[in-house]
Amino acid sequence: MDRRSRRKKKINHRGKMVVSVLIILLLIVAGVFAYWLLGNAKHKQESTPSSTLHQLTRSSSPRQSKTPSDTSKWLQSTADNQLPILMFHYASSQAADLAGGSNWMPDATLEADLALLQKQGYTTLTARQAVQVMTTHTKPSSKMVWLTFDDGSLTLYRDVFPLLKKYHMHATGAIITGFVDKGQSGILTWDQIKEMKASGLVDFVSHTVSHLDLGTLDQAQATEQLEQSKKELDQQLNQKTDIIVYPAGGYNAATLDIAKSLGYKYGLLDPGRNGAVAKEATLSDGLLTLPRFRMASTTGPDALFPYLEDATRYNEAHTK
Ligand SMILES: [Zn+2]
Repeated sequence: MDRRSRRKKKINHRGKMVVSVLIILLLIVAGVFAYWLLGNAKHKQESTPSSTLHQLTRSSSPRQSKTPSDTSKWLQSTADNQLPILMFHYASSQAADLAGGSNWMPDATLEADLALLQKQGYTTLTARQAVQVMTTHTKPSSKMVWLTFDDGSLTLYRDVFPLLKKYHMHATGAIITGFVDKGQSGILTWDQIKEMKASGLVDFVSHTVSHLDLGTLDQAQATEQLEQSKKELDQQLNQKTDIIVYPAGGYNAATLDIAKSLGYKYGLLDPGRNGAVAKEATLSDGLLTLPRFRMASTTGPDALFPYLEDATRYNEAHTK
């Protein structure tokens, strides 16, 4: 082999080496890229189940917060609206609390209710919106519900409020003002009440001063219960309280007259008490005697939805 062909062979050999190195480098880059792609896909897959609820929350939040506040964009109804008003008391995760009876709902059950309400596109009303729905032929949606929590339990702040924030839902608390003033254990403080009101998610109405059955009191006692609780709420929360939730659903004809004369325009009953039936509320029930549905410890989504369906169907059929 002469010198020239040896050199040519050497160059050829070097060329092959360079190509091989390039191919190896290319393979490494492709490998790293494939690994990165795979890792990304896996991460996405892993994070999906736990974030589904958050995605639901996010996708539904604009509808929840936008629709109700802009009443000029509300739907027109061709008849009086029907509104399911739900009566809750307490929600908690603590076993000791949950042993407290059928008014204690596990917070997981409440969350399941709220999550499904949101998934199904229900609007939770503020007290003012509920009043507008009851007294006009307008509505934010055919799917609406008013969540009310009786007795001013500390659990409204501790357990329920975080869920309302998470799902951006509204609720109304019925306050026993004398219990708050006494600093009674297990009862909300004025600071907690004010903080919740400032959030715009919770508003507050009267549940009297000391939770006595108004139907059994004489005129002076009933007047004091209704008047003092309204005065205190008005002062503490800078509002005009015009909704009364009758303790234990107790009232009589005189109670309604007194309430009206003091400036109350709307009253909520306790289903099963004092002849009140559990049904969706509508104008013909009388604004001072609006019925509600009782939420027990076992009222999860399956038990809840039958309470809502009739009203929803009716409202959908009576939309302009
Ligand atoms: Zn009560």
